[in-house]
Amino acid sequence: MPRESKEAKGRRAGLIVDALEKEMPEAKIALEYQDELQLLVSVMLSAQTTDALVNQVTPALFAKYRSAGDYARASVPQLEKMIRRIGLFRTKAKNLRAAMRKIVSEHGGKLPRTREELYELPGVGWKTSGVVVNHAFGTPALPVDTHVGRLSRRLGLTRSEDPDEVEAELSALLPPERWGRAHQLLIWHGRRTCIARQPHCSRCVVKTLCPKVAVTGSD
Ligand code: SF4
Repeated sequence: MPRESKEAKGRRAGLIVDALEKEMPEAKIALEYQDELQLLVSVMLSAQTTDALVNQVTPALFAKYRSAGDYARASVPQLEKMIRRIGLFRTKAKNLRAAMRKIVSEHGGKLPRTREELYELPGVGWKTSGVVVNHAFGTPALPVDTHVGRLSRRLGLTRSEDPDEVEAELSALLPPERWGRAHQLLIWHGRRTCIARQPHCSRCVVKTLCPKVAVTGSD
C-alpha cells in the first residue's frame, strides 16, 4: 500500500470527524458540573474510574465544597470520606487539596485559564488540563485518553503509543477549531463501536476510511 501523504491523511481525518459528527451530534462530555471549578474536580476524579461513578459522588461533594478555599481548608481524611467509592481515592483526595491550595495561593482562588498553568497543579496531567481548557474556556485542545489513542492507531492516523505524541500528530492533521469535537467524538465512538476488545467494524460509519491497523477480531 502506498504511503499516505500528510495532506491525504489530514483530509481523511477531516472526513472521519465529519462522519462521526453526523452519526453522534449529541456527543458531549459525560461528567456533570455547573462551573469550571467543578469541572476540574470531576476530571481529576475521573482517572481510572467511570464517569457514571464520578457523577454519583460529586453532587454531595459540590454541595459541601463550593470554592477552591473550601477544598483548601478541608482535611485530607474529610475529602477521602466524600470520595471513597472512587478508585485511587486517597491519592485523589491529597491531590485535590494540594491543587486547590495552589489555586488559592497563586491564582487568587480562581481557576487558571491556560493549559500550562493548569498542568502545574498537583494531580493535573496534560490530558486533564486539555479537557478543562476545552470545556471551561473553549480553548482548542485535543487531549488523548485511552479511546482517542486506540482509535487513532487503528485508524492509521498515528503509530505512537505515547499520548503526547498522538496529540501532536492528530492536532497537526486537523484545524484547531475541530480539535475539541474530534476528542469528544473519538471517545464516544470508542465507547460505542470501536471498543477495545472487539470493535464492531461491520456497523462502523468510518469503516471505508479505516485501515483497521492491528485489529485482529471484529464483528
Ligand atoms: S472500522 Fe473498526 S477499527 Fe476502524 S474505526 Fe471502525 S470499528 Fe474501529
